[in-house]
Amino acid sequence: DTADTVRVHLFRIQRRFLVVIAEDLGEEQRVNAMRRDFIANVSHELKTPIAAISLLSEAVHEAADEPDRVRGFAQTLMKESQRLGNLSRDIIQLSEAQGTVQPEDREPVPLRGLVRSEVDAHRTYAEQHGVELVVTEPPAELGDLVTLGRQASLGVAIANLLSNAIRHSPDGGRVGVGMEVTERACVVTVTDQGDGIPAELLPRIFERFYRVDASRSRAGGGTGLGLSIARHTMRSHGGDIEVWSQPGVGSSFSLTFPLVDLGEDPKSKKAKKA
Ligand code: ADP
Repeated sequence: DTADTVRVHLFRIQRRFLVVIAEDLGEEQRVNAMRRDFIANVSHELKTPIAAISLLSEAVHEAADEPDRVRGFAQTLMKESQRLGNLSRDIIQLSEAQGTVQPEDREPVPLRGLVRSEVDAHRTYAEQHGVELVVTEPPAELGDLVTLGRQASLGVAIANLLSNAIRHSPDGGRVGVGMEVTERACVVTVTDQGDGIPAELLPRIFERFYRVDASRSRAGGGTGLGLSIARHTMRSHGGDIEVWSQPGVGSSFSLTFPLVDLGEDPKSKKAKKA
C-alpha cells in the first residue's frame, strides 16, 4: 500500500510452488533521482566556466597585439579556472564526507589546535574583506579538547563556516569564533554580522548546490557545496551542525564535536568514548 513502485519477482520451485516476492522500489528510485539531480547540477556548474575558458582563450589569441585587452581576458581566465578548481575540490570533499569514517581513520584530533590553525589560515582572507576575526577559547585547564576522526575533514568543516562568515560580512564587520564545552561535547560556533538568511530558507542551505543568491555565491568563489560537506562530515563523526540566523542581524553556525577522554597520554590510540 505504501510503495510508489513495486518490482515483482516470480520463482517456480519444483514445478509446484510459485514464490512471489514484491520489492519496494521507492527508496531505490529516490536514490536514483538524487543521483540524476546531482549529475545534472554538476554538469550545469561545469558548463559555464568551461565555456568561458574556451571563449576567453580564443579572445586572448585574437587580441594578441593589444596587451591591455589580453591582461583583462587573462584575469577572467584565472577566475574561471579557479572556479573549476574549487568545484572539483568540493566534489571530492563531498564524496569523502558522504562515506563512513573507517575505524583506522579515527585519530585523536585536538580541537583547540584545529580551530586555531583554521582561524590563522583565514586571517589574510578576513583582512582582504576588512573583517575582524575574534577567537574566544575556553579556559586552559579544559585541556586540548580531543575528538576522534579525520583531522583534514574536520578542518574543512570549520574552514567552510569561516569562509562563509567572512564572505557574508559587511566591510568592517566582525566574525566571532567561540568554543563551548559541555560534559561530552565541544561546540564550535562561528558568528557573523552579515546579511542573514530568511527563516523559510534555512532548511535548504544544507542541500547540495543550494544558494540563497546564486550569482553572488559564484562571484565570491562559492560552489554551493560547503555546508553540505560540513553537515555530512559532522554527522559521519557523530556530531552535527546547527544554524541560527536573522536577516539584518547576522548568522551563527555551530558544530558539535563529541569529546573523548584520552586519559594520561594524549597521543594514545586507545581513546575511549566519553
Ligand atoms: P556557497 O558556496 O554558496 O557558500 P554553502 O553550501 O557554503 O555554499 O552555503 C549555501 C548558501 O547558504 C550560500 O549560498 C548562502 O546563500 C547561504 N549562507 C551560508 N553561510 C552564510 C552566512 N554566514 N551568512 C549568510 N548566508 C549564508
